Amino acid sequence: LASRQMHPTDTIFDINGIKIGGQEKIVVIGGPCSVESEEMVVQLAKDVKDAGGKMLRGGAYKPRTSPYAFQGMQTDGILAMVKAREETGLPIVSELMSADKIDEFERYVDVIQIGARNMQNFELLKELGKRTTKPILLKRGFANTIDEWIMSAEYIMANGNPNVIFCERGIRTFETETRNTLDLSVIPIIKRKTHLPIVIDPSHATGDWSLVESASLAAVAAGADGLIIEVHNDPENAFSDGDQCLKPKRFKALIEKAREIAQVI
Ligand code: PEP
Ligand code: MN
Repeated sequence: LASRQMHPTDTIFDINGIKIGGQEKIVVIGGPCSVESEEMVVQLAKDVKDAGGKMLRGGAYKPRTSPYAFQGMQTDGILAMVKAREETGLPIVSELMSADKIDEFERYVDVIQIGARNMQNFELLKELGKRTTKPILLKRGFANTIDEWIMSAEYIMANGNPNVIFCERGIRTFETETRNTLDLSVIPIIKRKTHLPIVIDPSHATGDWSLVESASLAAVAAGADGLIIEVHNDPENAFSDGDQCLKPKRFKALIEKAREIAQVI
């Protein structure tokens, strides 16, 4: 169902008026790794919008490596994102980790993110197919091949939800200088093999805010349909992923540079 052969033209999704895929235009999504409070995410939403971002990201259910690390604000975090959408009009993207929250996400969230760690949680993917038609931002697992990733999209699509957006967030290699290794070759390959949009996450791919701009511009030049970037007003004190968060000013500067390469809506 994802295959280009079955569907030669690019699929374009319309998310509350924001079109993604199949165009020369890039959609930029920005926001914190974790929602930390309503006040924080409402302010960041305004900053993201002011910078030229078109959607707001923010994790309320966080897949942390350590069980002792901040696990997210959960439902309160989702409601804080809703408040940020009300204040700015930006559609909201948030990560879902278990099927028992699908109804909550169906009600409140515009794009459901499936994280790298759940890319092959096949029962969850099946439920996403059956129980929602919201667009699914499907991140690539850190040790998965492109064909495995496409098969995960098939799990969602074959169960009834055709709305899948791929998201490359870096894979694990021998290299330790960066958090992950950004695989930009996936952009033309996903476009050749499928008709679905692909978004690049330079924040998790590099793990280092000082590398986010060059990774983003490279992704734009390579034909990505969008970028999803972590933004924070006080990265040093972020609850998660502070090292890779851009301050709004740098996020805005990045978008301005991206405009020199491609059209950013
Ligand atoms: C995130 O987007 O904050 C996240 C946890 O991403 P990933 O699943 O790519 O690690
Ligand atoms: Mn993060």
